[in-house]
Amino acid sequence: MLAVARRSGLESKLRLLPEGEVLPGLPVSLDFQALTGDGPVWMDEAPDWLLISWPVQDLAGELVAVLETRWPRHIQQRGQELLRRVQWVLLGLAVALTLGLLLLADRLVVARLVRLRRELGDIREQRKWGRQVTVQGQDEITELAGGANHLLGVIASQVHVLERLSQTDALTGLANRRCFGERLELAMRQRQRRSDASLSLLLIDVDHFKSYNDRYGHHQGDLALQALAACLAQVARRPEDLAARLGGEEFALLLTADRSGAQHCATELRAALAARGIAHEGGGPGGLLTLSMGLAQAASDESSDEFYQRADAALYRAKAAGRDRLME
Ligand code: GH3
Ligand code: MG
Ligand code: MG
Repeated sequence: MLAVARRSGLESKLRLLPEGEVLPGLPVSLDFQALTGDGPVWMDEAPDWLLISWPVQDLAGELVAVLETRWPRHIQQRGQELLRRVQWVLLGLAVALTLGLLLLADRLVVARLVRLRRELGDIREQRKWGRQVTVQGQDEITELAGGANHLLGVIASQVHVLERLSQTDALTGLANRRCFGERLELAMRQRQRRSDASLSLLLIDVDHFKSYNDRYGHHQGDLALQALAACLAQVARRPEDLAARLGGEEFALLLTADRSGAQHCATELRAALAARGIAHEGGGPGGLLTLSMGLAQAASDESSDEFYQRADAALYRAKAAGRDRLME
């Protein structure tokens, strides 16, 4: 008990009964049986301390002394302060941990989702379907990005197919009128930048094709148009040249060639068609399918419409002059 008192630093004293006789400190050899503590414990409160009194009995059970221990309240206050500090520290730790988790969640989830949404938005706005999103990782967001990339691949290939279809004539596989119009505009703009570049337009119309259809049937007419398209593709062999079907039995060759080069192409085209020997009884005098052609070279100060009109006028003259010929 003495050791406990010494170690705890609590002020203790044993007050012998009868009243008034007080022992200083604690006895060294105290009968611990007398301190069994079964009896009542008194507590007295003051602003600075708590006085706790234990009754001490002798072996006969008579009350012989009271063990008083004074508990200073500042211990309790210090304990409460310590408790408060611990609570603040724990609160701080909890806040720091929460912030850390939020930051981690932001880096791992939110920032990547925002990036995914931004990249998809850019692709959609710029209609660059061939691009891919670049979110990396090993989680569901990466799977989402992979799925988006797969869909983008499908969209890109479908857009490519649609673009090709929208620019292609279904019967012959040549460029259609729409594609021809765009390429003509482009070629005229390039020509304006480089005035020395030659640009020729050859407009081609099959002679007496209505009667060909009437005589051989529409299907045979289609085959003849396909054969002519193959001849045109053969002549327009350079990448910057364009063979197009403008509609019906009317075709065009846009050639980056000067006058003699374009004339040579026209001759080559006529020869290629003749080599196929497509019979047209009731057509021209030779009994074969023939072509009328109008040729013009782009002038530096004219519009694409004016250029086209000049070639068309030349074609009209070729028809008027008896067909199966080239006019300029
Ligand atoms: P011209 O010598 O003055 O050019 O006379 P043409 O008969 O060739 O000209 P016209 O404009 O009178 O007739 C064009 C014909 O082309 C009529 C149409 O049946 C035919 N045609 C237009 N498109 C197609 C097609 O896709 N397939 C087939 N088979 N015929 C077509
Ligand atoms: Mg015609
Ligand atoms: Mg015709």
